[in-house]
Amino acid sequence: MTDMILHSMGPTPSADLVGSIIGVDDGDDYKRPNLRKAASDRTSVNKSKDTVVPSSETANKEPPMQIVWRNVLIFIYLHAAALYGFYLCFTAAKWATLGWSFFLFLFGSFGITGGAHRLWAHRCYKAKWPLRLFAALAQTIAVQNDIYEWSRDHRVHHKFSETDADPHNAHRGFFFAHVGWLLCKKHPEVKRRGKTVDVSDLLRDPIVVYQRKFYVPLVLVFCFAMPALVPWYYWGETFKTAFFVASIYRYVLTLNITWLVNSAAHLWGSHPYDKGINPAENRFVAFVTSGEGWHNYHHVFPWDYKAAELGQYSMNMTTAAIDFFAWIGLAYDLKTVPKNIVKSRVQRTGDGTHPYALEESRNSDQDLKLENEYCEIFPETE
Ligand code: ZN
Ligand code: ZN
Repeated sequence: MTDMILHSMGPTPSADLVGSIIGVDDGDDYKRPNLRKAASDRTSVNKSKDTVVPSSETANKEPPMQIVWRNVLIFIYLHAAALYGFYLCFTAAKWATLGWSFFLFLFGSFGITGGAHRLWAHRCYKAKWPLRLFAALAQTIAVQNDIYEWSRDHRVHHKFSETDADPHNAHRGFFFAHVGWLLCKKHPEVKRRGKTVDVSDLLRDPIVVYQRKFYVPLVLVFCFAMPALVPWYYWGETFKTAFFVASIYRYVLTLNITWLVNSAAHLWGSHPYDKGINPAENRFVAFVTSGEGWHNYHHVFPWDYKAAELGQYSMNMTTAAIDFFAWIGLAYDLKTVPKNIVKSRVQRTGDGTHPYALEESRNSDQDLKLENEYCEIFPETE
């Protein structure tokens, strides 16, 4: 079954399943004759501002949304199977299987948040090879494209946030930002602008390169087979229950929780650091994603290893994990933003909900210069 799913995804399987902007094949999309007809049936979002303009004004400018039915069917199957797995959690699964699934959920989440996101996409800290290997294994368990694709797509998201070039442009609504972007061909701007983002540093990490090279067998083993085989072999769970709970349900849950960062955290919450951008501080998303919901801060200071101003562990388990790895010497060069820079930005562009907003402002040109340096998305490539 998993084999069937993966094969149906084409040459870059992970891409179609969970989110490559560039992995979804786009061959001869957007041909003019189809384009005009479909464009007349829809409205379109202006890319520079979130003004919705009537379709008649953009009929020849905006490509139509083109649904990829193969992906729709895959996601319907995965979610239906996950619902069955959820049912089995209450009716058949052993406690050990539930614990194992929760462990895999947390482990896979770290692969995304502490690995693909903070380590590889943003280079918020450096890691010695044992930690990179650990994070790559965790990231494989979560199956959201290989590290290279995930990081590349995420850099595009930051650089072109809330425009047509943003793969999950939240101006197109919750559903599109959450999962809809994986169910249709990507906007041509995503591909065009995506090519302008430097990802050469990723290809200099052999762990990233090898994970990409052997991604399909690694996914089959670590996301689908191993999670089901362990409960079956070690504590006598039926293979069916183990598969639907620890493999499928756990996987689909991780997916949806990750997607909340693109959807909910781009739509709902406060904007203490910059009221001019969509990404928001969302406590619920921060809690369920192990610390990725402090999204207003994160889009203002993308390479702070905490992805938040404060290091409150209960709402940011990823920071706790990175601090632990730093303590045992596997993580180093943790980057963060000095308090005065944060304060300066809060007072200059925040929505007034941050305590700094009430303090006396002493912004100087020097602060602004420093702030600009700290706001760079990718401060260095080695
Ligand atoms: Zn974002
Ligand atoms: Zn990010």
